[in-house]
Amino acid sequence: SIVVTGATGQLGRLVIDALLATVPAESVAAVVRDKEKAADLAERGVELRIADYGRPETLAGAFGAGDRVLLISGSEVGQRVAQHTAVVAAAKAAGVAQLAYTGILGGPEADFLLAEEHKATERAILDSGLPYTFLRNGWYTENYTANLAPVLAHGTVVANAGEGRIASAARADYAAAAAAVLTGPAEEHLNRAYELNGDVSWSLAEYAAEVARLSGREIGHADVPAATHLEILTGAGVPQPFAEILVDVDRAVAQGALASRGDDLARLIGRPTTPIAETIAAALADA
Ligand code: NDP
Repeated sequence: SIVVTGATGQLGRLVIDALLATVPAESVAAVVRDKEKAADLAERGVELRIADYGRPETLAGAFGAGDRVLLISGSEVGQRVAQHTAVVAAAKAAGVAQLAYTGILGGPEADFLLAEEHKATERAILDSGLPYTFLRNGWYTENYTANLAPVLAHGTVVANAGEGRIASAARADYAAAAAAVLTGPAEEHLNRAYELNGDVSWSLAEYAAEVARLSGREIGHADVPAATHLEILTGAGVPQPFAEILVDVDRAVAQGALASRGDDLARLIGRPTTPIAETIAAALADA
């Protein structure tokens, strides 16, 4: 089977959509921790396997010999090395044919806090000896458009990323790439790392200008010191540890950590990546 973990998440659902467009539902399985949340997937004919990354005993039935597996990194920051290591051990015990993993752009070279758990997971996968495919995802454009409300309310994009450029793509682009490496001849994708990013890089000043153009409002860009950005985020209710991670990401962006590393994404999906204008317009229509 083709097995997708985190299938009830935002990326996971898009991967399932992309798979069902090309392979029969009987060949697709979803590893989920909440069966009810996955009811619609079961209705579409996808097999459900119930497991929680944080409870290794539940992972025993998650994978079968010869499965092609996509491990979608979890969302519980701080727990993920233990969680992902447990998933890798279960995949190894089952004898899967391919373990694809959604890591971070730059892989071992990524020098920011949020990258640490991804780097440790890649090492655990290499240590397992399983045939792997590393999908080193750059930023989702939706990381920014999910936060449009305060930008529109204050007329400002606040950041500490300077003129750093971000080669983001839409979540659906990364999902299409994941589906591509799980279908078709596996040999092409085994023991390879793909650096996945959007075709077009932009700075936060350019992002602000694009939101202004599409919304018809005046939107500026305020580049502030890291400490100021941290205060603004925590003042807006972002928990301190997460605010520190966001400020650290901007520091890394300023140094080019999320800029383009080539065209692996467009090549895997066989089309250009989604322009940010399209993702911004969709978010504005929903706002
Ligand atoms: P979501 O938060 O929507 O999805 C995370 C998925 O992981 C959910 O399906 C969730 O299950 C599942 N999950 C989390 N913890 C566990 C666990 N203990 N056991 C089993 N499943 C678990 O994130 P996205 O889909 O948007 O992104 C996918 C991943 O990519 C994120 O989890 C994160 O690691 C990373 N990411 C990447 C970004 C980027 O810009 N490249 C930005 C943000 C995140 P459930 O549905 O039950 O909650």
